[in-house]
Amino acid sequence: MAEAATLEAEIRRLIGLAGPMPVAEFMGHCLGHPRLGYYVTHDPFGSSGDFTTSPEISQMFGELLGLWGAAVWRQMGAPAEIQLIELGPGRGTMMLDMLRAANVMPDFRRAIAVHLVETSPTLLARQKQTLGNLDLSTVWHESLADVPEGPAIIVANEFFDAIPVNQAVKQADGWHERVVGIDLDGKFAFAIAPEPLRFFEQTLPPQVRMAEAGSIYEWRADTSALEMGRRVARGGGGALIIDYGYPESRVGDTFQALRDQRKADPLAAPGLADLTAHVDFQALGSIAESIGCRVHGPVDQATFLRRLGIEQRATNLKKVAPPDKAAAVDAALARLTAGGATGMGNLFKAIGLSAPEIGTLPGFEA
Ligand code: SAH
Repeated sequence: MAEAATLEAEIRRLIGLAGPMPVAEFMGHCLGHPRLGYYVTHDPFGSSGDFTTSPEISQMFGELLGLWGAAVWRQMGAPAEIQLIELGPGRGTMMLDMLRAANVMPDFRRAIAVHLVETSPTLLARQKQTLGNLDLSTVWHESLADVPEGPAIIVANEFFDAIPVNQAVKQADGWHERVVGIDLDGKFAFAIAPEPLRFFEQTLPPQVRMAEAGSIYEWRADTSALEMGRRVARGGGGALIIDYGYPESRVGDTFQALRDQRKADPLAAPGLADLTAHVDFQALGSIAESIGCRVHGPVDQATFLRRLGIEQRATNLKKVAPPDKAAAVDAALARLTAGGATGMGNLFKAIGLSAPEIGTLPGFEA
């Protein structure tokens, strides 16, 4: 049978054929369906889009990450060739800002080969506009596993929250996968798989194992973090992951939709809204450690950016900016570092991964 014309119809068809699907499968179709997925049909960024990310808020973010990369490169012994890898580069803004900042260290800039990992053809085209005319090698890949081996610095901002998340619900007889089915009114609805997940509980951290009945636990089956850790541990490099999430594994349902910068029902409009879930930084750290990485942090974004010097950078920018732009620099600084529900300073966290022989990465000093 041919594929349906809308993603909603297509998911209904799949559920009709095989029964309710795990939350991660639903999320994967919504974001990544090759023809109808959100990232395939939308450019979600900017003030007119569904959400705004740190690099789109201010050039300061990418510039500080560029200097971070230069410092890590020096810690690595300044290799003559270094891969600068970004996962999920969005519009390419952060990489552009990183490379501009890298100009202050010409030996680093000359050593760089850029590798971008992107699955969305729409955003890939956008990245080519932003980064296509640079004086250095820039190669796109569908998966991190396709990037050639070698010493690497890897960055990922708001990448992991977009990776499909699995959910399990604790019941009297164990943890059951949370699934998406169709209710009596014909609408998509959450349900619980009848059989418990096998050999599941022993994989959970103790504080999650002890959760009360009805609790929801989220995890990602994706192997990007493992692959990131493997490359960094083996190639002697460093990696940086920034995203919103929690420092220690815990229970709670964070699966959500964002549409026009507002929270929406994640099941309501498949393929038309951005779907995300918070990132479990303890889980990321454990995965990296299991493959031999040294783990740095997590620290909150405000702390990380202040240690990299965002306040000084803002002051310098204001000196060269036209007077009417100075307020915008202050507003961006506040948005990136403020706490609370509206600022990104506490909600967002940074975690660093490195080869064991590399000292503390910049921004993670105690
Ligand atoms: N880092 C950018 C964009 C964040 S949005 C920023 O901060 O502005 C998430 C990005 O990850 C998008 O570019 C999206 O297309 C990409 N993406 C989502 N899932 C992916 C996957 N499985 N593999 C590679 N890229 C993916």
